[in-house]
Amino acid sequence: MISLDFKELDHIPEGLLERPASALYQQIDGPTLIHLEGRNKCPLVVSVLQHGNEVTGWEAIRRLLKSHYQYDELPRSLLIFIGNPLAAKHRLRRLDDQPDFNRCWPGGNEVDSEYTRLFRQIHDRMRELDPLAVIDIHNNTGLNPHYAAVNLIRSDYLRLASLFSSKVVYFTMPAGTLSLSMSEHCPSLTLECGQAGEIHGTDHTLAFLETCLNLETISGKPVNADAVHLFHMVATVYVNDDVLFGFGRVPAELALREDLDKFNFCELPAGTSFGDLNGSTRKPLLAVDPEGVDITDKYFFFGRGEVETTREVMPSMLTLDRRVIQQDCLCYLMDRIHFEFEEEVPGPDPLPEGIRRSDRPGTPVP
Ligand SMILES: [Zn+2]
Repeated sequence: MISLDFKELDHIPEGLLERPASALYQQIDGPTLIHLEGRNKCPLVVSVLQHGNEVTGWEAIRRLLKSHYQYDELPRSLLIFIGNPLAAKHRLRRLDDQPDFNRCWPGGNEVDSEYTRLFRQIHDRMRELDPLAVIDIHNNTGLNPHYAAVNLIRSDYLRLASLFSSKVVYFTMPAGTLSLSMSEHCPSLTLECGQAGEIHGTDHTLAFLETCLNLETISGKPVNADAVHLFHMVATVYVNDDVLFGFGRVPAELALREDLDKFNFCELPAGTSFGDLNGSTRKPLLAVDPEGVDITDKYFFFGRGEVETTREVMPSMLTLDRRVIQQDCLCYLMDRIHFEFEEEVPGPDPLPEGIRRSDRPGTPVP
């Protein structure tokens, strides 16, 4: 049976920072933890390249270390996790014979395998080091603003997220992600930093990492509800398998708007059109809730030759990339979560009962 292992290093190997993600495999051929000591010994964990084609995290780390590590001490210890350099070599999310790494962490639904065992070990090692926070850096396709995702609604978690963006997404599905598996131990974020290769995505990520390294602590004081716009996913939307679709003025059964990704993170009123239907009598889209229940009719109406929304909703991850739509999904639908904190979160224990969601009339109940 194959047994996978990860490497641990206490320094940056000579020349590593000169390499783009696609060349890392020449020095690092699998999951690797690099410990770099700083003034404050409680480490910040930064995870990059869990998905091999999402290079912003590694670009930010290269620049961060070129400006700090080579000349002066880091303000705080840093634990860098480099996920999948072999997939990065081929500029792929994962190789054909690999699972999605960010579904293999403890608590996930992946069947027991050498990968889930490997990620359990890495997880246990991270926990042992009792980090200040975990930051897992990703990219996506389509026009999406940069945002952070949390897996627990707590003041300190939201505060950390708000240092990256005022838009924060709460998710507990999919399971098996790094941030979800670590969030019972410390503030953990998944960062979505726009499309890979965009320089402003790297700039933004770099600035955020600098801020995190210089934080003394993460305050548990209640966050101002105006400073954090919190959303959660209510549905995943797919184009039904055998439906022919295109963008713009095409004769396809489903002709989606060619600027559809402009809707990402916009709170759309009911009656917004995603595109036209050409002579189709079946439902072109399927929307399912996080439990897998078909809720298409709750969000879409197809009876007037268009794909119309039936209620106020906010899409994310809308993409114009056909391959992503076919392999993954068309988009996610999100609702706003109204939250209030009644008291300061004291220690590292989760305090879900300290959170009260407001029940103002007209607001969707998450
Ligand atoms: Zn990713």
